[in-house]
Amino acid sequence: MTRLQDDFYHAINGEWEKTAVIPDDKPCTGGFSDLADEIEDLMLETTDQWLAGENVPDNAILQNFIKFHRMTADYDRREAVGIEPVKPLIEEYKKLSSFSEFASKIAEYEMSGKPNEFPFSVSPDFMNAQLNVLWADAPGIILPDTTYYTEDNEKGKELLEIWREMQEELLGKYGFTAEEIKDLLDKVIDLDAKLAKYVLSHEESSEYVDLYHPYDWADFTKLAPELPLDSIFTEILGQVPDKVIVPEERFWTEFAAEYYSEANWELLKAVLLIDATTSWNAYLTDELRVLSGKYSRALSGTPQAMDKKKAAFYLAQGPYNQALGLWYAGEKFSPEAKADVEAKVATMIDVYKSRLQTADWLAPETREKAITKLNVITPHIGYPEKLPETYDKKIIDENLSLVENAQKLVEISIAHSWSKWNKPVDRSEWHMPAHMVNAYYDPQQNQIVFPAAILQTPFYDIAQSSSANYGGIGAVIAHEISHAFDTNGASFDENGSLKNWWTEEDYTAFKERTDKIVEQFEGLDSYGAKVNGKLTVSENVADLGGVACALEAAKRDEDFSVREFFVNFATIWHMKAREEYMQMLASVDVHAPAKWRTNVIVSNFDEFHKEFDVKEGDGMWRAPENRVIIW
Ligand SMILES: [Zn+2]
Repeated sequence: MTRLQDDFYHAINGEWEKTAVIPDDKPCTGGFSDLADEIEDLMLETTDQWLAGENVPDNAILQNFIKFHRMTADYDRREAVGIEPVKPLIEEYKKLSSFSEFASKIAEYEMSGKPNEFPFSVSPDFMNAQLNVLWADAPGIILPDTTYYTEDNEKGKELLEIWREMQEELLGKYGFTAEEIKDLLDKVIDLDAKLAKYVLSHEESSEYVDLYHPYDWADFTKLAPELPLDSIFTEILGQVPDKVIVPEERFWTEFAAEYYSEANWELLKAVLLIDATTSWNAYLTDELRVLSGKYSRALSGTPQAMDKKKAAFYLAQGPYNQALGLWYAGEKFSPEAKADVEAKVATMIDVYKSRLQTADWLAPETREKAITKLNVITPHIGYPEKLPETYDKKIIDENLSLVENAQKLVEISIAHSWSKWNKPVDRSEWHMPAHMVNAYYDPQQNQIVFPAAILQTPFYDIAQSSSANYGGIGAVIAHEISHAFDTNGASFDENGSLKNWWTEEDYTAFKERTDKIVEQFEGLDSYGAKVNGKLTVSENVADLGGVACALEAAKRDEDFSVREFFVNFATIWHMKAREEYMQMLASVDVHAPAKWRTNVIVSNFDEFHKEFDVKEGDGMWRAPENRVIIW
């Protein structure tokens, strides 16, 4: 028996872990995943009825979803057409004869969602969060992170081999000869290895402030002289932008000129041709669908692909996500639950305010500014007020094929993304559907968002004690609020713009504290991989603030139980995962593993030591001088 005093997470969740079974098509099970699995069952059951013409909702958007779902689920038809739908695209890319010919078509390819290795997007300006501007990213790499490309990384070599085998098999199905396949893959892997030297690692991109590199348009276009950026953007935006923000500055200043050039054409063409060939895998035969997931299954150690029915549902759900979320909220999220959670959020903000008012390590003016920011955080609970306007345009034409309809849906969403450029940010748009078991803080909107799906047991249950609810949904709510003041959020002001609102002394004191959190997590074991303290610091700071604040809120109730609070906090994190998956997450995920999100966080609290009688020498012991509380 594990003692609570030695490994709190394991003592609470060990019994469950013994018998928990990870589904064959999933990388993990437990807490968040259990809820997600339940919602998946509900959605499959419901949409099955809809396909059969039963209980069809009286809603034009959902009826279009059903038409699309009928097509993704029609495997007989998918088998019958085989690779026919993608043949014209393959031919089109085969025929491209030079970089300049390709470059002259980039805008057209971009607007129709065809492969183009053109990594631009539109999102709010860091300096003015009310306005959408152009951002220049970098093309993607094959392996999950740049760290996999180092000479001594055996896992990287192994994964790249699996990727290559999968592509060999796939390209064979599309009629390429063995010789062509070898040539294409050699080139793609060659270019990928070069690219990996310049793109950002996940650790680098986890520090938002360091990503802000604005460029005047004329200066930027000089970085890739052979890429006709002026004409491409005149076609896409109707005009040349005046500036661009370049988070992937290393790629653009050191490699883009070579990457986008006639000299690199052979390698780039190989990437484009493979992308074009495999871009519709998920919509074609079942054999191609399953085969195309081989590499990602290897990454997460998942033995099996989803079955046909599930795959057809998810494929159809993609473009209609928010509409299905609204349906879910309408069925499962009562007005009473919404009111209750709104009250909880208000309480939590109130508690947060009182903690900020008494944070004696901060000067009064910094406290004042933090409170100003806290006061205007906008909470969104349950579901969005309205769907994005594009949803009305997502009309399925049953006379067209599955791929043709999917193509139209892609075009609608791309046109929508580009139409936002140089326009005010729509603050009512959600980045998650209401049936997703998650929550987020958007530093640029200074908004917290809690989809209906997370407002369930064990996070939240009217039948469990108030302290248990505070250890669950309370800690989650306060976690999201804390993101406003984590290592990233601290650099944005109340309007969501990048602005230093700290005194120098206070920021130094903040940095000292967050550095201690980096140290507490750095190098901890996760299934043989090491936790990266820097990559995970923003989330760990949010967890710490979340528990501190939720604990204080719980104390305000008469029936407060410190035990129920911490026990439920450990319970929400119960998780069982595949080794490969956890090893991959260690290099890409800004969240620490569930075990450490529990154990390290609670070990910073005096209340925890006292309640569970944790003594020096116990596994959970942290000496009082090493305990850190920030918010
Ligand atoms: Zn978070």
